[in-house]
Amino acid sequence: MLVLRCAACKKKLWKYDKVGPGEVLRCHKDRIIRIYASTKENSKIKCPCGKEVGIDKGTYIKMIGKAFTCSGTKRNK
Ligand SMILES: [Zn+2]
Repeated sequence: MLVLRCAACKKKLWKYDKVGPGEVLRCHKDRIIRIYASTKENSKIKCPCGKEVGIDKGTYIKMIGKAFTCSGTKRNK
């Protein structure tokens, strides 16, 4: 399980069940376990601080690479 945080303010965004190795490029909504903080503005997913972290694509969120950090069960940390 990964916890995604805003890169700008370090606030927890959501908890995500990552399947397979590699970078988190998109977050499938049915694998988002818990949402701590995020706001949606049109199709943009933002941290409450205003930082844009992803784009809503319907069934998944396309993540913006430099806008978030991950921690949790990810190898090669
Ligand atoms: Zn933030």
